[in-house]
Amino acid sequence: MAGSTRVSTQRFDPGPLPSLPSSYERRPRRFEHIDAQTWESWHWQHQNRLRRPEHFEDVLELSAGEREAFQKSAQRFRVAVTPHYAALMSGSNPGCGVRQQGLPQPGELRNYDFELEDPLAEEAHMPVPGITHRYPDRVLFYVSHHCPVYCRHCTRKRKVSDPTTAAARDQLAQGLEYIRTTPTARDVVVSGGDPLTLSDERLGEVLRALRAIDHVEVIRLGTRNPVTLPQRITPELCEILREVRPVYVHTHFNHPDELSQESARALRMLLDAGCVLGNQMVLLRGVNDRPETVMELNRQLLRLGCRPYYMLQCDMAQGISHFRTPLQTGLTIMKHLRGRIGGMGVPHFVVDLPGGGGKVELVPDHIVSTRESPWGQVVAFSNSEGERFEFVDVDPTRLERDDER
Ligand SMILES: *Cc1c(COP(=O)(O)O)cnc(C)c1O
Ligand code: SF4
Repeated sequence: MAGSTRVSTQRFDPGPLPSLPSSYERRPRRFEHIDAQTWESWHWQHQNRLRRPEHFEDVLELSAGEREAFQKSAQRFRVAVTPHYAALMSGSNPGCGVRQQGLPQPGELRNYDFELEDPLAEEAHMPVPGITHRYPDRVLFYVSHHCPVYCRHCTRKRKVSDPTTAAARDQLAQGLEYIRTTPTARDVVVSGGDPLTLSDERLGEVLRALRAIDHVEVIRLGTRNPVTLPQRITPELCEILREVRPVYVHTHFNHPDELSQESARALRMLLDAGCVLGNQMVLLRGVNDRPETVMELNRQLLRLGCRPYYMLQCDMAQGISHFRTPLQTGLTIMKHLRGRIGGMGVPHFVVDLPGGGGKVELVPDHIVSTRESPWGQVVAFSNSEGERFEFVDVDPTRLERDDER
């Protein structure tokens, strides 16, 4: 665990980083001949994404289920995995957390009557195309519908990866105009798809335009590139982010196996550019639904300067029900974390309510019983180790009366 390795590229030296496996060193046979510099190019990573079963043949051993799902589900929701992300997958274990997020699963083919195409009613709250305005102060601004890796658990499957829904240039302009003329829009979440699939130029235009709007106090960038394509975090991109700083970057790590030397460097570069880093994890059955897994992920993230922000309950979107956990699983994880890791490592456990109800937070109940006393209720709590403690919840009016006597 201890010790550190130095990664240096020609253009940026992030200094010492915690030691983590490097995807380059773990690269599959398919990419044996690739040199380190080529591996570092995000254009190369993007162009060499694995999309078809034969691409995966000399990377891992496809299980019968994965093979079948590939044939049947790829048309519904595209398959794409960057060489970097593929290198983090286990070759032999289909239960690998990284693999389950990147490779089609048989569960995607099943449908249930409770599932919804647009579970968060994001389309219904669209004042203009590309903007969801559900909370008074916050707007969600979709600037791209593409991603380097198409996550099998994506809640926006209905439009992500669909070329017909690409955010065109005039749609970006329309979105910016809406934000400009909506003074309550104080907090803008730049999202997608993945906003980092835009070119530096286009993204720079959007971010500078937002920064120039007086009432926009907070700019957030929701991106999974630090996980799936960390090479996209270049000195040039960081220069743009530094110019409009601070940008709150919300990334999306779900499993400790997704942490790599390349991701560590990307996060360091974002920190150096004045970004504030937060992680939005999605709770996924069989991937990260054990308390120890979340604990390990959150410890590693804190070490890299990225604070766990949300642990999200899996939505009611179509084709992802095999990933869903009972609400109780999340509550059990929260109870485990509290007391075992500093408060900065404890995320908010939230459920995004269907139909546009918004996010609500679920908190484990620590109160086991209450009884009356002359001063107010005596509340019995159980702590994270299950021990019992009593707390007197004083009724102030009873105290005052007592003082006057
Ligand atoms: C989640 C979400 C936000 C941001 O919410 P926070 O709880 O402030 O992170 C904004 N708009 C929409 C539509 C959302 O779903
Ligand atoms: S990066 Fe985000 S938007 Fe893109 S496929 Fe994954 S979860 Fe969906």
